[in-house]
Amino acid sequence: MAALNRNKSQSEWHHVCPQRAQLVRAALLTRRVSGPPLTSMQSVPADCIRGNGPRRLRFPLCRILPFGLPYRPVHSPSILPPFQPTSMERSFVTSILPRRHQRPLPLDQLILAQAPGAEALEMDVLFVGAGPSGLAGAIHLARLVKAAQAAGSSIPDLNIGVLEKAGSLGEHNLSGAVINPRALRELFPELKDSDFPFRQPVTAESVYFLTESGSVRMPTPPTMHNRGYYTASLCELVRWLGEQAEALGVNIFPGFPAEALLVEEQAVKGVRTTPSGLDRERQPTGNYQEPTDIAARITVLTEGTRGTLGQAWREWRGIRSENPQLFALGVKEVWQVKRPLDRVIHTLGWPLPSTAFGGSWIYPLGPEMISLGLVVGLDYREANLDVHMLLQRLKHHPLVRPHLEGGELLEWGAKTIPEGGYYSLPARRSGEGLLMAGDTAGFVDVPSLKGIHYAMQSGMFAARTAFEALQAEDLSAASLATYDRIVNESYIVQDMYRTRNMRLAFKDGFVTGGMKAGLMSLTGGKFPGGRITMHEDADQARVVSDAPALAAMVPDGTLTLSKVDAVFKSGNATRDTIPQHLLVGPDVSAEAADFYAHLCPAGVYERVGNELRVNAPNCIDCKATDILGPRWTPREGGSGPKYRLM
Ligand SMILES: Cc1cc2nc3c(=O)[nH]c(=O)nc-3n(C[C@H](O)[C@H](O)[C@H](O)COP(=O)(O)OP(=O)(O)OC[C@H]3O[C@@H](n4cnc5c(N)ncnc54)[C@H](O)[C@@H]3O)c2cc1C
Ligand code: SF4
Repeated sequence: MAALNRNKSQSEWHHVCPQRAQLVRAALLTRRVSGPPLTSMQSVPADCIRGNGPRRLRFPLCRILPFGLPYRPVHSPSILPPFQPTSMERSFVTSILPRRHQRPLPLDQLILAQAPGAEALEMDVLFVGAGPSGLAGAIHLARLVKAAQAAGSSIPDLNIGVLEKAGSLGEHNLSGAVINPRALRELFPELKDSDFPFRQPVTAESVYFLTESGSVRMPTPPTMHNRGYYTASLCELVRWLGEQAEALGVNIFPGFPAEALLVEEQAVKGVRTTPSGLDRERQPTGNYQEPTDIAARITVLTEGTRGTLGQAWREWRGIRSENPQLFALGVKEVWQVKRPLDRVIHTLGWPLPSTAFGGSWIYPLGPEMISLGLVVGLDYREANLDVHMLLQRLKHHPLVRPHLEGGELLEWGAKTIPEGGYYSLPARRSGEGLLMAGDTAGFVDVPSLKGIHYAMQSGMFAARTAFEALQAEDLSAASLATYDRIVNESYIVQDMYRTRNMRLAFKDGFVTGGMKAGLMSLTGGKFPGGRITMHEDADQARVVSDAPALAAMVPDGTLTLSKVDAVFKSGNATRDTIPQHLLVGPDVSAEAADFYAHLCPAGVYERVGNELRVNAPNCIDCKATDILGPRWTPREGGSGPKYRLM
């Protein structure tokens, strides 16, 4: 309980305020899944929550010269690959290989061969990440216990925990979103669709191919049919799921990011959370709160896209997949609008170059609100491609602009999506003391842009496996492998198998990819047979050119916004004195600095002369950087965006 007992002046952190610590402690001391809610996001006193302070310039946290002289790693120096630029690279650079500038995963920080400390909190099952996957898993597990007890089983109450790095539930969740309600219906069979926190049913849909000034309506591909589904805000769904979980006695800990897995031999024994209250030099301030160990009989990783602990666990256990995981970056805006949108809209083509895979969406969120976003595969070829700026450009298009005129931008955010599909699934997603579900495991079907119901369903399968393993008192890898079998036989993997090559076909560009994907749709995925092999996104070379940036434009502050304004609209109010959480590689050339500046939607990276400047507090945890640039590591709880509508 070390971290939770601290009783300091808490002007800066809502998540360690004394009132909240008391609530959390009360929850932990009562080891049961039934009874009244024990922790409450709502019961956090308002003055413990940091509001969106005035926008301010971020302090440059570190500067890196092209070949890395003044950089001192903030975290323990891990294995750095020797970098020897070739003479050709020194004389002129025409392309960048992101991998060359990237550090390896800091396994020594993420996997600790240590038993949880003597003061560790004890959980039977701990979900790391309160997204739809972790919360659905926790709810299902609590319900299984109650159902078994009601049927006369002597199964004891279980202590179920959910850790979340955001300060309040939902603040780090972002999606389109059109939701397939299948998993929600299974989780709450007693509820009607109208009881779920959806915005509206999808009654009509259109797909367009865009040119710079026009659009052509296309037949809706079978994978993009959404009738019978619902539009929603994922933040709202997550908050609602949190309330359901709390009502079942689940212990929810917002503001507690897991920083490392605690392991003994091959078994996962729990996690260690991040410390809080360190200054830029990682020295404790008056608000210091040391890390907390949480011992768990079963740890379920539900960290979402590009999960750091999930990556580390796979690397540590040597778990491979047929293809590497691939990612896309989605940038999203929510607008208050003057007139209702009567359908969901998807677009392909402009403003993306023909070498990039992606498209946009516009979804109605009730009569006065819409969600608008652009998703681009991170294997794009042009070093100056900038997804945020492309979205700003898209808003000028004659198909899009009329929906926004007279309206107001309410919120902005960005996040990556694992889009490798079937061939990128890890060979196993279970091991001794550990399961992984949702985006962390890669359960997303990109042709339909769906992941929420797969995340929930896989979380529920993890819960069922954990329940049975605890009943049998067998937490071995063999026992937990039941989870892989259930998932493999489920609609999750069946759906992903049907569309297994569709995203991969686009590796040769939009035109060839479009034709191949059409044939795949017609043949139910049978053409082409076999697997299209892919490289990791970081191994795709990027062409550096002197051409103006692909989306160069000056935002007007009304229809279009700069990255600085965008970060403000994400609600990010991370304190400026937080330690650096982005592990920059040892050799960042000026061209790579430019590449990062375009890549990051939140303006964290800037090229200043030939140096890279890192404005780390701007980070909104989209994880794009972890895929193509400096590594992202968990930081102080409650940092990052404060989404309400994403
Ligand atoms: C732009 C975009 C559009 C999309 N559109 C759709 C759509 O229309 N329909 C659809 O079905 N799907 C859509 N998806 C996919 C869908 O959003 C995801 O598949 C789904 O959210 C995955 O749920 P999850 O619980 O696995 O992960 P998440 O929703 O990402 O939740 C993971 C949680 O874990 C927390 N976390 C991460 N690391 C830690 C840590 N170390 N310690 C503690 N907490 C941690 C995060 O803060 C987060 O709250 C979209 C995704 C994106 C990015
Ligand atoms: S620095 Fe943060 S916001 Fe920028 S790309 Fe990386 S994860 Fe996303």
